Amino acid sequence: MPSDKYRQRKRILVTGGAGFLGSHLCEHLLGQGNEVLCADNFFTGNRENIGHLLENRKFELIRNDVTFPLYVEVDEIYNLACPASPIHYQSDPVQTTKTNVHGAINMLGLAKRVKAKILQASTSEVYGDAQVHPQPEHYWGNVNPVGLRSCYDEGKRCAETLFFDYYRQHKLRIKVARIFNTYGPRMHPRDGRVVSNFIIQALNDEPITIYGAGTQSRAFCFVDDLVEGLVQFMQATPDDFVGPMNIGNPREITILELARLIIRMVGSKSELIFKPLPSDDPIHRRPDIALAQEHIHWQPRTELEQGLEQTIDYFRRGAW
Ligand code: NAD
Ligand code: UDP
Ligand code: UDP
Repeated sequence: MPSDKYRQRKRILVTGGAGFLGSHLCEHLLGQGNEVLCADNFFTGNRENIGHLLENRKFELIRNDVTFPLYVEVDEIYNLACPASPIHYQSDPVQTTKTNVHGAINMLGLAKRVKAKILQASTSEVYGDAQVHPQPEHYWGNVNPVGLRSCYDEGKRCAETLFFDYYRQHKLRIKVARIFNTYGPRMHPRDGRVVSNFIIQALNDEPITIYGAGTQSRAFCFVDDLVEGLVQFMQATPDDFVGPMNIGNPREITILELARLIIRMVGSKSELIFKPLPSDDPIHRRPDIALAQEHIHWQPRTELEQGLEQTIDYFRRGAW
């Protein structure tokens, strides 16, 4: 008879597993004793992120574009495949929509065939330029359907629709997590996200690029907290609790404050320069995490300064 421990181990597919969040998630799931299949087309992810896992016999890397069918046998799927930063997702917007929509259909079809539980990495971008603050899950959002961000925002919204229709129509076990801005080691150094940009600029004593007046705000979650939230949602909630559920850090900070904090922490001589605000850039964003607190007893534990310290250290070491 297999022991309880043996039975609890699962074979888990992580799409986008070579990316920033995906690589941390693979690591966490392997740490629990699971077998992990990482599928990625290396559009924004890279082998360095998962290089340290390749020796692990429970880890398998598959080159696969999620817009193409994938036939594997797994118990759970985390669907993270999608470029997350505006520079990358806007470089081939048609492919971004395909990745979100065809990718979701393929992974839901796979989950249906093998009866796997499946989690979608959705995003706070589904709220668009939110007119409700902070954003609770029942807010439907304020999204431009024809703008430069739409391939990502509407693609993610359509993926949520598909998840809920497979849930209602095919009785799939789904979880939809809406991830808010997350940062940490292994962020892509050139994807233009604010935390990585500011840290790299500060380390090089280069001007810090503030878009707009810097009065817009975000709330930043450290990657370890985020991964814990995703895994608890997947593993520790009943099948009838499907979300959507926000996962993020509710501490809000303006972009100007963030710049000053990073300059101080790095001990940099960088000055601030102001550049035009990108189109459809949301003014304020902060998660309402009451649902996560109630259902998975989760809340972020890492203070912004602690998380930035680790991220600064990662970029300072040039480990990327
Ligand atoms: P990332 O760009 O580092 O990782 C995405 C991964 O998906 C990369 O490894 C990339 O190569 C892969 N990928 C892209 N298109 C693919 C395709 N067609 N087929 C297979 N693989 C593909 O981004 P991330 O920050 O790790 O984000 C992971 C997921 O979390 C994304 O779905 C993103 O939308 C979501 N998310 C992230 C954040 C954040 O702040 N990081 C916030 C909200 C949502
Ligand atoms: N699919 C896949 N792996 C599987 C099963 C299905 O990639 O193991 C894909 C396949 O491309 C299919 C899609 O998922 O088109 C949707 O599958 P579903 O069964 O929902 O619909 P159908 O096969 O009827 O189009
Ligand atoms: N931002 C900035 N300077 C940069 C990069 C980003 O001022 O070098 C701003 C950007 O305009 C946005 C915020 O920082 O208001 C967060 O940007 P990011 O791309 O990291 O995430 P998102 O816009 O998806 O929340």
